[in-house]
Amino acid sequence: MKPFANLIAGEPVAIGDVSRNINPSDTNDVVGEFAKGGVEDVKAALAAARAALPAWSRATAQARSDVLAKAGAEVLARKEELGELLAREEGKTLPEAIGEATRAGQILQFFAGEALRLQGEKLPSMRPGIDAEVTREPVGVVGMITPWNFPVAIPAWKIAPALAFGNTVVLKPAELTPMLAWQLVDILNRAGLPKGVLNLVMGKGSVVGPAIIDGVDALTFTGSVPTGRAIAQQAIGRMIKIQLEMGGKNPLVVLDDADLDTAVNAAVNGAFFSTGQRCTASSRLIVTEGIHDRFVEGVRAAMTALKVDNALKAGVQMGPVVDEKQLETDLRYLEIGDREGAKRTGGDRLNRETPGHYLSPTLFTETHNDMRINREEIFGPVASVIRVKNYDEALAVANDTEFGLSSGICTTSLKHATHFKRNAEAGMVMVNTPTAGVDYHTPFGGRKASSYGSREQGRYAVEFYTTVKTAYINA
Ligand code: ADP
Repeated sequence: MKPFANLIAGEPVAIGDVSRNINPSDTNDVVGEFAKGGVEDVKAALAAARAALPAWSRATAQARSDVLAKAGAEVLARKEELGELLAREEGKTLPEAIGEATRAGQILQFFAGEALRLQGEKLPSMRPGIDAEVTREPVGVVGMITPWNFPVAIPAWKIAPALAFGNTVVLKPAELTPMLAWQLVDILNRAGLPKGVLNLVMGKGSVVGPAIIDGVDALTFTGSVPTGRAIAQQAIGRMIKIQLEMGGKNPLVVLDDADLDTAVNAAVNGAFFSTGQRCTASSRLIVTEGIHDRFVEGVRAAMTALKVDNALKAGVQMGPVVDEKQLETDLRYLEIGDREGAKRTGGDRLNRETPGHYLSPTLFTETHNDMRINREEIFGPVASVIRVKNYDEALAVANDTEFGLSSGICTTSLKHATHFKRNAEAGMVMVNTPTAGVDYHTPFGGRKASSYGSREQGRYAVEFYTTVKTAYINA
């Protein structure tokens, strides 16, 4: 099997060490071998991105748009094949993986449009004879560090606006899932990007990451809170622009007047789909007394019926945990929950036909919000039920967390839905719909420890990927 090389200045570079990309549904299946880049590779990538910047930042909007549209069309045309690779390297089910590949294609096409719509402002000046003008310019060379849970959607939603607005890029995907990032960079290069505009350096986060931050004008990161905080320290030391998307401990409030099926579906989808490995996953189910027992019974029935197996098998609803290390983390938290006195359903290691990191969905009941399982992000198929007296207590518990990414409520009361929408301390609010699962044309991001910097996606992405210039013209 030929290893996949780092892609710098449009070319594959010589390969030294490699790392193996293993299928979490079948650990006998090697998805590919990938170059493990080092500091020298990063330096070459930074130099290539820097050299490509003047021409790309002045390329016509049409030229940038054309590349993104062409790449988007290829991603969409190959969505089944890319989805299968994605399911093999990350372990989400094939329909989820094809959905993610589709979304990546749609994001590229959305930003093909946005490239044409970059706007400025012209204002009357306070002074006679002068025009005031505000324009947006690219930030420069943008570094991107991405996680394993959305191997193509996250690189796409960072790369697409960066390129649309004239920046050049050095991307470091997660060690566990380089395949889809490699495919995406290859597709964009073949769609006509000038050499050096987009560079891929795969490798160890603690080696490649800091070297990238050392040479870029802006850094966008999605990953865990500790890594995000370390990155922020380094980036602030260089006074560069940063954008961080990190964890969540997202609440889903269920009120007595909720439609039971809607609430159960939102909880099961939000907590367990994509194996719970989404930063927007519903991990705290905050339920009022009157519906508590019916809701718990409904979730238990639905979750135990979920088919957990090899992500590529037809009809599978939940794939494996991404790797053994994450599975150990999940199991450690299950022990912590048990010790804290929560009552547990599920959370068993499962054996399937192919050797993989299978875990059954887990529901903790009789928990309170102070338990560690309700305060720390687990990032697995684990949710807790917290029983509360009424709406006021539900809202207080929902907001009582260091995180603030997505916050949901299931209710048929307009009054409570509206009040919750106004008072949830989160970047995104969901009413009668799972906390996870968002559109690609609306802003994505959170508050408190979940996020730092301006929002990603949709028209709001322009904030991070451009810098504003004010001009005064005496004409
Ligand atoms: P996860 O547990 O979701 O993988 P991490 O925060 O560990 O979250 O990883 C997210 C990304 O950050 C990955 O691409 C990883 O390689 C990278 N990374 C890890 N450690 C560092 C570091 N010290 N500096 C920069 N990037 C890092």
